[in-house]
Amino acid sequence: MQEDRVIIVGAGPVGLVAAASLAAEGIPVAIAEAERDLPDGLRASTFHPPTLDMLERFGVVPAMVEQGLICPTWQFRDRKDGPIATFDHAMIAGDTRHPFRLQCEQWRLTRMLRDVLATNPAVEFIYDARGAEVAQDATGVTLTIERPDGSLDSLRGRYLIGADGARSAVRKSLDIGFEGQTIPELYLTLSTPFAYHDAIPDLTNIAYISDPDEWFVLLRTASLWRLLLPTDANEPEDVMLSEARIEARMQQVLPNAAPYTIRHKTAYRVHERVADSYIAGRAFLAGDAAHVNNPLGGMGMNGGIHDALNLTEKLAAVWKGAPIESMGRYERQRQKVAKEVVQQQALRNRSILNQKDPEARKAFLDDLRATVADPVRHRAYLLRTSMIQSLRDLEAVA
Ligand SMILES: Cc1cc2nc3c(=O)[nH]c(=O)nc-3n(C[C@H](O)[C@H](O)[C@H](O)COP(=O)(O)OP(=O)(O)OC[C@H]3O[C@@H](n4cnc5c(N)ncnc54)[C@H](O)[C@@H]3O)c2cc1C
Repeated sequence: MQEDRVIIVGAGPVGLVAAASLAAEGIPVAIAEAERDLPDGLRASTFHPPTLDMLERFGVVPAMVEQGLICPTWQFRDRKDGPIATFDHAMIAGDTRHPFRLQCEQWRLTRMLRDVLATNPAVEFIYDARGAEVAQDATGVTLTIERPDGSLDSLRGRYLIGADGARSAVRKSLDIGFEGQTIPELYLTLSTPFAYHDAIPDLTNIAYISDPDEWFVLLRTASLWRLLLPTDANEPEDVMLSEARIEARMQQVLPNAAPYTIRHKTAYRVHERVADSYIAGRAFLAGDAAHVNNPLGGMGMNGGIHDALNLTEKLAAVWKGAPIESMGRYERQRQKVAKEVVQQQALRNRSILNQKDPEARKAFLDDLRATVADPVRHRAYLLRTSMIQSLRDLEAVA
């Protein structure tokens, strides 16, 4: 029956990993995506080791590696003094099949997953379908979708996964709170073909650069460098994004005789929020719909993919007869990670980068130096930042 399926709202990385996981279990899915095609905006680009281990089952990792950039090391730097601590994933070679971060844009993954799903007759993609309202009864879920011309339609399924991003209409329709805070500064992301690796000595492909006045992050992808700069939210957007202002800021980061070429620019607000609940009856939240955090550490998309697999493994068991109450463990496990691991680590990363107090700053940087110098602490730090530890700790959550 066409209605006996799981409806997934949102074809981002989280929605499509959930779809691929359910499809692999032989469960029919319908994916409702608000846009006309898969979004191709420049957003997350860092895949952590356990996420690559998880994605292996869909056969996409070799192509991701081919199109991406393997980064065995990453570092914290001081803007004036250079490298403070260089972390090396070789320390966790025994803990993962992918002892590196992979820099690969999220839009590449969603296209690869769509290709994997395209030949499966039990998977339906429905574009131009903006989820608006979720209604439930004893046997299933009805999603009202809005078409671009304003007309309404409905989709019926046995269960529903809201993977429709930070502004999730599913979350709002289910009346689930999304408490937390908004970070005062905006984050400006710029990408450039400029070869920072030739211009800055000992620079790794991922570098967090601490400074009491202006910290920044440098991330390299296969073809470009991305620069993330905190930005005064009061600056008018037309000034902030103007060519002259961006050039001045690029020159401030690294003076260069020639002007910089900019390929993409985006300024965005950053929130730290976790949904009050991940489950409402037959509907579940995952990814940005359930939690958002600052991008320092690259944990948003990775954590969302971990949600998708945890959720769908349990939902597949329920589909095959396990009681729906067993889904509660999904919320207990993944909400705990969002609150106690991802938010805390992302906030800690921000405070290392923007610390203004000289004493506190020195203490942070000395601690980082001591951490990489000690093999036991070095490995433990990488297990945490690569999100392996959060997955191990889940086993203890009943
Ligand atoms: C500019 C920017 C830079 C970022 N950089 C990083 C980074 O470096 N590292 C990192 O880890 N994270 C980063 N993030 C966050 C990261 O992109 C998200 O954590 C990740 O995309 C979450 O995936 P998702 O599938 O949950 O949601 P999304 O990727 O937001 O996907 C949601 C999907 O649902 C669709 N949709 C939305 N509303 C509806 C609706 N009502 N009905 C149907 N479909 C709908 C959208 O079109 C989209 O396809 C960044 C985010 C932004 C905005």
